[in-house]
Formats: sequence, C-alpha cells, structure tokens
Amino acid sequence: MSVDDGVQVLEDELAGLAEMLTAPRRGECLMCFANRMLVNFGCDQTLRWARRYAQLRSPQAYALRRRLARRGVFCDCEIFANGWDVTVPTVRDLHGEECWPSEVAGCRGVRTGSTQPCSLWAPRRESRLR
Ligand SMILES: [Zn+2]
Ligand SMILES: [Zn+2]
Repeated sequence: MSVDDGVQVLEDELAGLAEMLTAPRRGECLMCFANRMLVNFGCDQTLRWARRYAQLRSPQAYALRRRLARRGVFCDCEIFANGWDVTVPTVRDLHGEECWPSEVAGCRGVRTGSTQPCSLWAPRRESRLR
C-alpha cells in the first residue's frame, strides 16, 4: 500500500464518518434529528436537515415541506422557533435562562419511515403564528 493509498483510505473513512454524523439514528424522529444537527452544524437558512432526514428515511414524504411551511417553517431552526416545542418542562440554567432539559438530547423513538415527531415534541399553538 502506497502513501497515496493510505490517504485515499483516510479520505474514504472521513467521508463515511461525516455521512454517519449527519444521518438519523435508529428510530430517531425528524425533530430530534434536526435539533441534533442544528446543535452541531447550525442552520444554513434552508431545510437541509429536514430534507436530509426525509431523503434517508422517508422518500415518500413529499408533503413534508408543505406541512412545515403551513407552520411557518422555512428553515431548520424555524422548526423549533415556529413549529414545534418540547413537551417536557423546561429548566433554568445557571444564568436563569430557560432551556431544554438534558432528556431532549435522546429521542423517544418513532417507527422508520415516519416524519412525525416523537412524544418529546408537540406543535406550537397556531395562535403564535397569527
Ligand atoms: Zn434557520
Ligand atoms: Zn424524537
């Protein structure tokens, strides 16, 4: 094996790693996946994480984009700003800021192919959008 081969192997491994890091976990719901990706990689003003989830998990979910748009969600961070909120009580951090409890980091699970959130998430009240 030459040095070049070694570099190629490493590049392949890194590509595989990036692929793995940005893939939904087994049974992970759209909201938990999007939240995890936003925490790690941020929002690029598009629905790239929602789209990626749908591509990998639920290619039949054509209506997802429309369903999100109806809730005022046009990029990934708006999923949580406008669309859905946690169903568990929020906690206060050291500075008194309201934040999500650590259990939000673990998905409660959905069946494969679903684009519904797990029980950690509930749609925000419609009135917020008006
Ligand atoms: Zn955003
Ligand atoms: Zn979940």
